Amino acid sequence: MKYNCILLFGAPGAGKGTQGKILGVIPHFFHCACGDVFRNLRADSDLGRLFIDYSGKGQLVPDEPTIELWRQFIDNSTRIGRFHPGQDTLVLDGIPRNVRQAEILRDTLDVKGVFYLKSVNEEKLVERIQRRAIKENRLDDANLDVIRGRLKVYEQETKPVLSFYGNQIVHQINADQMPAKVLCDILGFLI
Ligand code: ADP
Repeated sequence: MKYNCILLFGAPGAGKGTQGKILGVIPHFFHCACGDVFRNLRADSDLGRLFIDYSGKGQLVPDEPTIELWRQFIDNSTRIGRFHPGQDTLVLDGIPRNVRQAEILRDTLDVKGVFYLKSVNEEKLVERIQRRAIKENRLDDANLDVIRGRLKVYEQETKPVLSFYGNQIVHQINADQMPAKVLCDILGFLI
């Protein structure tokens, strides 16, 4: 059985996490932010170290361990009754993050919609990321060179995921609006 899901898509700092958290409290939506799953790992575990190593340089963690960790998280969430496949819509944020991950997950995900939070203002993104770095104590966001690198990785590796899913299910949303308006636009497509 495939998981019914929607993807929150966009550059780092575009507001995927903010929207995902709100959608995730609506009954029958389950939010999964791949970056949060990584950040919840113990820093002294093998995978925790791998995450710190790659994210600290602004790079993506290799696909296999990423997908394996994600599957474990979904299985655990199902087992403890937080996620009910079949009844709930999975709100994915930060995964799939390149075309290869989308291909690996092709038989696992039934993607009903891709919400592309598009920001035209890169400086605004950088500002948001820097503010978040302090607030959430995120090492990967602290350094300006790393932030620029993450935006480049997004353009080169993540953006092509949009064409993988195709225009029919991709909904473009102006991410430079107030969070409440962004939410309103997402909900407009969902209901
Ligand atoms: P943002 O919200 O700024 O887009 P995330 O919290 O989603 O950032 O991700 C932070 C870091 O975690 C990424 O830069 C990357 O190193 C790692 N990461 C998260 N999701 C994935 C993924 N699907 N594949 C590979 N690396 C990932």
